[in-house]
Amino acid sequence: MSDLRFRVVETAFKKRPVEVAPPKERPSEYFAKYVFNRDKMFRYLPSKVFAKLTDVIDNGAPLDRSIADEVAAGMKKWALEMGATHYTHWFHPLTEGTAEKHDAFIEHDGKGGVMEEFTGKLLVQQEPDASSFPNGGIRNTFEARGYSAWDPSSPAFIVDDTLCIPTIFIAYTGESLDYKAPLLKALRAVDKAATAVCHYFDPEVKKVYAYLGWEQEYFLVDEGLYAARPDLLMTGRTLTGHDSAKNQQLEDHYFGAIPPRVAAFMKDLEVEALMLGIPVKTRHNEVAPNQFELAPVFEECNLAVDHNMLIMALMRKVARRHGFRVLLHEKPFKGVNGSGKHNNWSLGTDTGILLHAPGKTPEDNLRFITFVVNTLMAVYRHNGLLKASISSATNAHRLGANEAPPAIISSFLGKQLSQVLDHIEHSEKDELISLSGKQGMKLDIPQIPELLIDNTDRNRTSPFAFTGNRFEFRAVGSEANCASAMIALNTALAEQLADFKHDVDCLIEQGEPKVSAILEVVRRYIKACKPIHFDGNGYSDEWKEEARRRGLDCETSVPVIFDNYLTEESVCMFESTGVMTRKELEARNEVKWEMYTKKIQIEARVLGDLAMNHIIPVATQYQTGLIDNVFKMRQIYPAEKADKLSAKNMELIEEIADRTAFIKEHVDAMVEARKVANKIESQRTKAVAYHDNIVPAMEQIRYHIDKLELIVDNQMWTLPKYRELLFIR
Ligand code: ADP
Ligand code: MG
Repeated sequence: MSDLRFRVVETAFKKRPVEVAPPKERPSEYFAKYVFNRDKMFRYLPSKVFAKLTDVIDNGAPLDRSIADEVAAGMKKWALEMGATHYTHWFHPLTEGTAEKHDAFIEHDGKGGVMEEFTGKLLVQQEPDASSFPNGGIRNTFEARGYSAWDPSSPAFIVDDTLCIPTIFIAYTGESLDYKAPLLKALRAVDKAATAVCHYFDPEVKKVYAYLGWEQEYFLVDEGLYAARPDLLMTGRTLTGHDSAKNQQLEDHYFGAIPPRVAAFMKDLEVEALMLGIPVKTRHNEVAPNQFELAPVFEECNLAVDHNMLIMALMRKVARRHGFRVLLHEKPFKGVNGSGKHNNWSLGTDTGILLHAPGKTPEDNLRFITFVVNTLMAVYRHNGLLKASISSATNAHRLGANEAPPAIISSFLGKQLSQVLDHIEHSEKDELISLSGKQGMKLDIPQIPELLIDNTDRNRTSPFAFTGNRFEFRAVGSEANCASAMIALNTALAEQLADFKHDVDCLIEQGEPKVSAILEVVRRYIKACKPIHFDGNGYSDEWKEEARRRGLDCETSVPVIFDNYLTEESVCMFESTGVMTRKELEARNEVKWEMYTKKIQIEARVLGDLAMNHIIPVATQYQTGLIDNVFKMRQIYPAEKADKLSAKNMELIEEIADRTAFIKEHVDAMVEARKVANKIESQRTKAVAYHDNIVPAMEQIRYHIDKLELIVDNQMWTLPKYRELLFIR
């Protein structure tokens, strides 16, 4: 075995779990220890300031800058007591991670020494250099300056020695340069539109929240094996590697016993997460070997998004402590399941979940139907955009493969809910009017609860499934910032609910009673959004045909899918809800295309390097050994016999020659294709060129490399193989 591979495999096998002593307290006692949450605000802020700040957080009251100094003073006191020495504005630029620049609390004290200082000004606003982050050209048109501004609705927290303050990040001219700013606007828009619709049913409703419960899937790989794979190191996925003889076909990993080394990692991670106020709850093995899942209790959407970004960073950190590397890539290994991040999404008022049946009263149930149908309508109208919101160079490997939702957005409702909608659609107007009455109802809305309770027919193939009290947006990628999907979904619903309100109000103005007006519009929508409703097998080829007939977006090329952000319907949706302007959408698409190109470019370079520096030399070396053998056969045997005995080796020699020649030719061609693509000015055209010309070339090169892996001497192969990466833990 190649020396390095031999050593890392041997070391990995010998590793034992790193046991970290758990805290003595119970989770409820150390939960949010490092968070400046309400409890700490109460203790560290003057009561008037506390009241003002909670009003900002709970009711969206405007932030009064005059309280900033006092909030900063309270935060500083707490942070210093906790041992923090630095602070940072923590934000989500349009990259995959978060950004932070740490500053120490120290300032001159005017007496030749220093003192700890943190003012309201520093809390509220800072000026990171916008030109150093992706901005899609906004900086060229305007100014390089950008601002990060405090988001009081997500509490500050301490990581290591640093007080982190969640912020939005915007350009000097006000355009968002991050995920959080448009997310907050989308959440506000859906709150406004949904509250107005709730008033049909309950005039007391003050606020509607969007909730998010994500389920984070990931792989763990031993760090030694990881380090011996340049592709994992540089791209987060394996660019070569033949299937292991055994992978997930025995279905023996899912929900199986968690391996001890992994369990130790999970426990350690959970303690850290809980201390940061992330309510992690569920852990289990996933379908593929070495694949796992972590899920918290759902939270308000903005906070849940922050927590997801935080947990991904935490996972990377804690994994290293345990001698692992965490792979958050959507498809680290070909041929076994990839990783997703189901976004469980729902709406709720100050009094309860809106997508939940049974309700206590017929009005509750009508409200439930109203929100379900409007959600379907929103998803139908913007199915292409929703797909764009979850599309990326990395998630493309997963969508449409035989394990994850296809690259077509549709919605699963289940038998009972489908029946209810059918019934409403086909019922007569008079019949429906009796809905709010108590007697003689054909469609007895209070019966819906009984129908829905047993909602067990879950369909794993659907990208947007109703699961009892929420919708599960399953197409989201494991590495993605959930905000992207949540911005699109909540904005689409905000627009849709406003349209609904308009339609219902028109009927009411014409003299229609409220309930029958609502039902009339609901019935109209049920008919209109039928194409999005699909309860069948989303993985089947028939569905692709059917979806096309229904007019759903079936595009599979990621750079082209991004066009959905710039259609008139999308621009209108984002502008009418005040979430993003056309200029922002255009700039963000530039970033998306550029990011796509860069990802593929890096992969193509790494693959070229692997092919030329690892694969071809090793294959040739092995081939030389075979040739040597053939020669020597001729020395010890008569020619005819020697040729006969060498026949198989001759075949191998030729196969290696053919495959290495193919690989070399295609690597060269790929380099040329890149040169051509790199000259293209337009980011979109360049990304399309990478998609159309580079991606298929990589597939072909890989195919031959994987075939070589099967024939070349195992001892010579330098790269850890799938069986090692997937089964050593
Ligand atoms: P699954 O069976 O799909 O793995 P779970 O029951 O484990 O689902 O729940 C997955 C996630 O859904 C959890 O984060 C949970 O908190 C969240 N969730 C449950 N109800 C809601 C809801 N009404 N809104 C948003 N998320 C929810
Ligand atoms: Mg789920």
